[in-house]
Amino acid sequence: MIAATQATEARDTAIGANHQPETPARPPMLIRLEGLTKAYTEAGVTRTILNALDREFYTGEFVCLLGKSGSGKSTLLNLIFGIDAPTAGDVIIAEGGQPVRLTALSEHERTLFRRRNIGIVFQFFNLIPTLTVLENVTQPLELLGRNREARQRGQALLDRVGLGNRHGAYPDKLSGGEQQRVAIARALVHDPRLILADEPTGNLDEDTGDTVLALLLELTRDAGKTLFMATHAPEVARLADRVLHLDHGHLVSDQAWQETHSG
Ligand code: ADP
Ligand code: MG
Repeated sequence: MIAATQATEARDTAIGANHQPETPARPPMLIRLEGLTKAYTEAGVTRTILNALDREFYTGEFVCLLGKSGSGKSTLLNLIFGIDAPTAGDVIIAEGGQPVRLTALSEHERTLFRRRNIGIVFQFFNLIPTLTVLENVTQPLELLGRNREARQRGQALLDRVGLGNRHGAYPDKLSGGEQQRVAIARALVHDPRLILADEPTGNLDEDTGDTVLALLLELTRDAGKTLFMATHAPEVARLADRVLHLDHGHLVSDQAWQETHSG
């Protein structure tokens, strides 16, 4: 047990050192994909969607994940979010400076881990129709038992996304762009360090999408949060710190991808 822990620590250190030995100022690791594999078998045929992904992401980064429809972007986000389980490999997310291996957690522990550490924005907003706008936003805090601060924090975030006066409305009275701004407030209300966004502008017209994207970037960047965004809109990539492409089960960094795909 002790030997295993030491081995893990030694490997953790080695991974950090291998990448950039001379740069001590690199921000702490937040997410590590370790041999992350997802495959589906249907009618005896196995399709590998994610093929042994190894990659690290750091606190404060805006990572843009590009890839064609069906390339596995949502699959990867769901594995990081912990609502899907890998076929092999693991996702490791740091909490309080300690690496937490998602496959080592029970389903219940993963739910609690997710609630503490992650906020998510979906393409189709996923607001709860029977709750008001404010109730949708405060729900993550209430799930953490932080009811007392919920109303005030929720209202403050609704003000930040420009919807302070719509707190009592139901989601179906709001436009798509407004619903997505509510979803952004909901993703941030419990102050998670990691924000996942799965094609957050994919269901919005271009102008509305630009507004939503700018808001998401402002609210996550200002707070030093890590934003991991899947999109099929390559123009978003210009704003990102790192751009990765999912291509036939592999993660390819932007530079390598451009080299293999240009001309
Ligand atoms: P993207 O988000 O990039 O459009 P997805 O991650 O949704 O891609 O899907 C990747 C691939 O995995 C697709 O080919 C999809 O059909 C397949 N897939 C997703 N979920 C399942 C499932 N439950 N069973 C079988 N195949 C699935
Ligand atoms: Mg998807």
